[in-house]
Amino acid sequence: MSNEGYEPGKVKVKNNAYKFEGAFHHIERNQPILNEKGDLVGVTNPRNMTYVHTYGGEAVFFENLSKGKIIASRCDNKDCTAFGSIFMPFRIHCPDCLSRNTHVDITDIAKTTSRVHTFMITERTGAFNTLPKPIKFVNVEFEGVVTILMGPMLFGRPEIGMKVVPIFRTKDPTYTILDLGWVPKGTKESDLPEFYTFDA
Ligand SMILES: [Zn+2]
Repeated sequence: MSNEGYEPGKVKVKNNAYKFEGAFHHIERNQPILNEKGDLVGVTNPRNMTYVHTYGGEAVFFENLSKGKIIASRCDNKDCTAFGSIFMPFRIHCPDCLSRNTHVDITDIAKTTSRVHTFMITERTGAFNTLPKPIKFVNVEFEGVVTILMGPMLFGRPEIGMKVVPIFRTKDPTYTILDLGWVPKGTKESDLPEFYTFDA
């Protein structure tokens, strides 16, 4: 994922519309593929592209991670069977009645009630993995929240039922889900990975 040698394209917003600046596709010098006798059998075709990911109604969730806050959402439709349900991961709409959910700040709930529901440790990762290996994924449950959130434990070893607290990449945020991680309750601030804090 190196950007060396070229400037990736940038996106700005003007008059409520995307304005693209620069080049979003870069072709790099190819290489021949030779068989064991030295005959040409093919070529590599290196290409770099800048993908544009629009957050839409989920932008509030990602923006607040960089400020040390977790924003969930809640169905406030009294006629819905899920009325009052709080969802984390953030859902723009209620899955039961499809009405627009209300934003709810669950930062304090996450800091005081989060527990490991279950977890998974893996060495095998997909392309472009940026998490330290082995990756310790924890499924976190919160009091009063009807869903469970998966995220990486960035210090210590997970156990089922363990109390955990969120940490936030408030220094040099990525504005992605990587800005949120989990550590066992009682972890010292000095043990957090670089750029992460307990509060903004
Ligand atoms: Zn609903």
